[in-house]
Amino acid sequence: MERCPTCNAKYTGKRICHRCKSDLGLLLDTEQEAGEYLEKAMSAFAEKDFNQMFLHAKRACALQRTPEAARVLACASLLVNKFDMAMNHWSFASHHDK
Ligand SMILES: [Zn+2]
Repeated sequence: MERCPTCNAKYTGKRICHRCKSDLGLLLDTEQEAGEYLEKAMSAFAEKDFNQMFLHAKRACALQRTPEAARVLACASLLVNKFDMAMNHWSFASHHDK
């Protein structure tokens, strides 16, 4: 997270937004959890366990659908022969990439 989703103030690393006092804690937890699933997906990929990779990537994407998570999920979908899903997530990633 780079900015507060409520008021768009720059995120300073605190769990409460310094400007609007929004509680960012839950969001941070979600973000962190999504990151952990993404890491698990990548290590499953390294072990060529594509079903596990797919499951972890799907969880990461459900928590936080970033272009990065969508891309990992697209690759994982391909590897488990879910071609429609691969296409969906890949196009999401391409459209939302900076
Ligand atoms: Zn704020």
